[in-house]
Amino acid sequence: MMGLPTCAEVASSMTDYMEGTLPYRKRLGIRVHMAMCDACTGLHQRLLKLSRLAKELIAPPAAAPPEARAALDHVLTALKKDQGPDR
Ligand SMILES: [Zn+2]
Repeated sequence: MMGLPTCAEVASSMTDYMEGTLPYRKRLGIRVHMAMCDACTGLHQRLLKLSRLAKELIAPPAAAPPEARAALDHVLTALKKDQGPDR
């Protein structure tokens, strides 16, 4: 063996690994570990999905599909109409 990281070490360095801030040797160790370890591969997959979701959530409104923006406009117009007579 060539000093592969343990599952706990992989888990604790996973975010750094994904951000690419780890030194080459550590990255390599994690990659080799994941090739043999389903648990850590699963963790990596879940974190990838999460970070993709997070990116979608903070995407600018302009990136929303036209249907969604049209629906939003519709709702806003309806709300304005509702408030109309009272104010
Ligand atoms: Zn593992």
